[in-house]
Amino acid sequence: MSLLVLEEIETFYGASQALFGVSLAVGEGEVVALMGRNGMGKTTTIRSILGLTPARAGRIAFGGKTVTALLPHRIARLGIGLVPEGRRCFANLTVEENLLASARRGAWTLAKVVDLFPRLGERLGQYADTLSGGEQQMLAIGRALMTNPKLLILDEATEGLAPVIRQDIWAAIRRLKAGGQSILVVDKTLSELLPLTDRCCVLEKGRTVFSGPPPVFTRDLQDRYLGV
Ligand code: ATP
Repeated sequence: MSLLVLEEIETFYGASQALFGVSLAVGEGEVVALMGRNGMGKTTTIRSILGLTPARAGRIAFGGKTVTALLPHRIARLGIGLVPEGRRCFANLTVEENLLASARRGAWTLAKVVDLFPRLGERLGQYADTLSGGEQQMLAIGRALMTNPKLLILDEATEGLAPVIRQDIWAAIRRLKAGGQSILVVDKTLSELLPLTDRCCVLEKGRTVFSGPPPVFTRDLQDRYLGV
């Protein structure tokens, strides 16, 4: 059974329609890449899943339950952890306070997050706004994991980060996948993303235009939909 299913969702900002029919599915333990050029609807899709900008048509189901009309905190509590674009940690809390503030019962603990990201362990007492961009992204991922999510969503997993830090983030995502974590991820680095992806879902102008495993997402299709 799929953990997350979107069926032909349509989402608006006021009177302006942003999604015209987005369908995708994330199975248990799967990594699904949500792709598309800038402005094609990736962030809006994520906002719709979380109920932050609710879909006005179509259906979203999580864990077999329809969540389309639920409020964001109810949806998050069902087990979705978000690493938002731009990271957004509590600037005036320490690394440890940030992590503990989002903690919910489950396998993920402070010790496990520190094991995944040793750099955070060295900075537990440091305020979040004094961290580098890469460390803030590690903290954002750690915060999402501390909620013990069934599904982890990463919006722009490595955007704007130094190459060496990107490698650390990809290594962490590979470890999460190996541990069976279900993940929906947005990122533009196809060379890193495709090898760890079970399925690609490509959006164009607010519609799903391709869905399939990486080998089927050929260079021609990448060129057509992503302009790479
Ligand atoms: P990017 O890679 O640039 O983040 P994206 O694929 O995530 O792009 P969205 O941010 O979901 O795309 O944007 C989809 C469409 O919705 C775009 O046409 C965008 O201009 C529009 N849009 C996004 N946010 C708003 C908003 N707050 N109000 C009105 N329109 C919006």
